Amino acid sequence: MRRTQHKRRRESRSKRAERSKPVPAPAQRTVPHPVFGAMPLVETTWVDGAGQERSGYAYDSSYCPPLPTGAVRGDITRQHFCPMCHVPRYFYVDVARSCVQCGEPFVFSGAEQKFWYETLQFHFDSVATRCVACRRKRRSDKALSAQLAQATVEVEQDSDNPAKQLALAESIVRIYERLEVGSLPRAIAACRKVRRICGTHPRREVSEAMFWEAKAHALAGRAAVARELFQSMLELGGMGGRKAHLAREARKWLDAHSA
Ligand SMILES: [Zn+2]
Repeated sequence: MRRTQHKRRRESRSKRAERSKPVPAPAQRTVPHPVFGAMPLVETTWVDGAGQERSGYAYDSSYCPPLPTGAVRGDITRQHFCPMCHVPRYFYVDVARSCVQCGEPFVFSGAEQKFWYETLQFHFDSVATRCVACRRKRRSDKALSAQLAQATVEVEQDSDNPAKQLALAESIVRIYERLEVGSLPRAIAACRKVRRICGTHPRREVSEAMFWEAKAHALAGRAAVARELFQSMLELGGMGGRKAHLAREARKWLDAHSA
């Protein structure tokens, strides 16, 4: 009993001695980087998948390398990246790239990169591959596809509704015009159904049905049929107001394809 007490006292004495020893300042670790300079690392601990506490080094979020002209400061705490494969972006600079779609050069700007990696929190593996114009076009192609899906569902639910058949025909024709995919016969069938339902009234619907049918034939290479339909449509009229641009488009086509 006495011996163990004595031992305990001895142990605590040695611990006190250890504590009073000056603690050596931790060696400053840095990683050299061609753009960000000597990036400091800080000691950190974390719990691994097995619940084990681990310690190591992490990038220092307070590091502020001097900002080159035109660069945008990054906030590495908002960035998602794999520290084994990537280094954090302490700042962003404009990057010159060429568009995978049109081949034109474009700039992936520093501000845009900050938006991608910090606001949208995209992974560093994703980079802009298309120019702004091609990105916009791609988005509107997607919107057109969504419109077609919607029009298809609505026609299935209400197949005798001329407005819904026309919306379906329009979607098919516009997508075909852009991407050369889709079923032109389906668009033509929708237009014919409108003309069957409406007879000659209301003129606006019938005229529009003629327009989309003409467009579908034109896209399918049947210029003679398209010409006849465009002419009938213009003779019938009824394409005022919101639909006036269709009449203009028909006239333009007839001018370009005069027999
Ligand atoms: Zn492009």
